[in-house]
Parts: sequence; structure tokens; C-alpha cells
Amino acid sequence: MGFLLMSLLQAQLDRSCQSIQHEIGVGKVADYIPALAQVPSDKFAAAIITVTGETASFGAAKEALSIQSISKLFTLASTLNLRGTKLWDRVGREPSGNAFNSIVQLEMECGIPRNPFINAGALVVTDAMLGDQQSTQDCTSDLLSFVRDLAQDNSIVIDEDVARSERDAAFRNASLCYFMKNFKNLERPVDDVLDVYCQQCAISMNCKQLARSALFLANNGIDPLTHKKIVSEERARRLNAMMMLCGHYDASGDFAFRVGLPGKSGVGGGIVVVVPDVAAVAVWSPRLNANGNSHAGTAALEALVRETQWNVL
Ligand code: GLN
Repeated sequence: MGFLLMSLLQAQLDRSCQSIQHEIGVGKVADYIPALAQVPSDKFAAAIITVTGETASFGAAKEALSIQSISKLFTLASTLNLRGTKLWDRVGREPSGNAFNSIVQLEMECGIPRNPFINAGALVVTDAMLGDQQSTQDCTSDLLSFVRDLAQDNSIVIDEDVARSERDAAFRNASLCYFMKNFKNLERPVDDVLDVYCQQCAISMNCKQLARSALFLANNGIDPLTHKKIVSEERARRLNAMMMLCGHYDASGDFAFRVGLPGKSGVGGGIVVVVPDVAAVAVWSPRLNANGNSHAGTAALEALVRETQWNVL
């Protein structure tokens, strides 16, 4: 007779996720990107990986989701590595208190976006990532390699249908770009920036891959399992600070209040969070709250931190 020994971590994740299953039907799937509206709204998944390599998962943790704005974390890390801290001349570091795709603040603050995680800021980061030489294709394939390397998984791809669907309807992001171009805060042609941006947002990853890709941020910038340095210790701390303050748009305060961990969400319903020195966690549930963050995903993380007592505060 065989015995199945369930780890404490797996039991904690199971308990947390089971306790919020009734929340999965609450909220609305993002439909302004037509391809996202096709995703079944009752999906739910969660995955944890610790700095010692222990894993736990729940639900559809091997099913791919559209990472959307979670990509802004990867482009920020990669662009800071590529172009250095001069990037901060072009984008701020303050919570916006506005919707992720808002244009109003940009007018008042002369084309300098509040932070790299709202769309305007992410578009500037993408522009800087492109630099003055790179072709848009080279830029996206370099970014994809960076993400594959973080996740230690070469099977990660861009969902071209999602990319095309967003690109065809990118009127608002185009407006943000033209606005910033007027203030000389966009170097490349608007079409180039939008092409790369829509591709980065359409990267498809599952929760296990997402958690794995953020693990370096739980370990001072070094991948604890490969020992590879991804970013400096200072940069890792700053990326976590940005996630804590700006990772959930105008609900960043509420997320800090309820979960208390640095995190980044996307309108595909994914959220990745970092537990410094302990683990990285990813959750997925497509229905969103009014601020565009996964409703059940946030609830699951709130339950998990209660179970585990994980909190940086
Ligand atoms: N691709 C989406 C957009 O630009 C990303 C937004 C999000 O995930 N919050 O609108």
C-alpha cells in the first residue's frame, strides 16, 4: 500500500483556494480585447514555487493564460538591464490613482507617465526597450528569450491571435502614444511601439511558469535554482517596490491592504506576487473587479496570506 504525503504548502494552498471557489463567478471578463472575451470565465488556477524549489499547485495551473500587463514587469526588468536608470527620466515612480489606460494625468503631467505599470508608462518602457536600432521582431524575440530564461521553459510562446486582436483595437494605446510623442517622450514610430507592446501583452504562460519567472524577485535578483543573476539586489528591491505601490493600478492600495505583498496583475485575470526570501505565487481567474484585477485571484491570495502568514509588512 502506498502513502501519499501531502506537503504543508500544498495543504495551505488547497485550503485557501477551496475557501474562495464561490468568488469565481463574480466580476466581468475583459472584452475590450475581443480574443480575451473568448476565454471561459470560470477558469481558476494557482501555483507556488519556493526559493528552495518546492512547488504546489491548484486547478488549471498548467493551462496557458494571456499574461497581458504582467508583461510590464518583464519589460521593465529587461529594459532597466539594457538601458540603465536613465529610463526614470521618462517615467515616474508614483502610484497613479487612475485607471490603467487613463489619459487624463498624462495631459497634466506633460507626457511623463506616473509609473511603468500603467499603459502609458509601459509604452514608454517598450519604446526604450526598442531603442534606436532594434527591429520590432528582434525586440519581441529578445524579450521572449528573457521570459523563457526566467521561467526556465522554452515552450513559452506569444499567442498571435491575441496580439492581432489587441493590435486591431489599440485605439486608446495609440492615443497614449501620440500624446507622448507630442511631448517628445516617444522616440520610435507609434506603430513600432504598439506592435511590440501588443506582442508582449500576448505572451501566453501558465501559473507554474509565471510563478517560476518571478522567483528571482524573491531572492534578491538571483534565480535561486540556477544561481543566475537576473538583476542586481538593488534593482530587485526596486522592482518589488514598484509592484507594491503600482502593480494593481488604482486598486494598488486595496491590494496592499488585503494581500500585503508586491504583485502585478493583468486583464487576462493573472496575478503574480513575490514573497521576499520565501516564494513566488501566481493565480489566474478571468473575471475582473472594477479596477481590472482578477476578483477570485485576489481573494485566493488574500486567503493564502492568511493561511501562511506571508506578509512583508
Ligand atoms: N494589453 C492590455 C492593454 O494595453 C494590458 C492592460 C492590462 O492588463 N491591464 O490594454
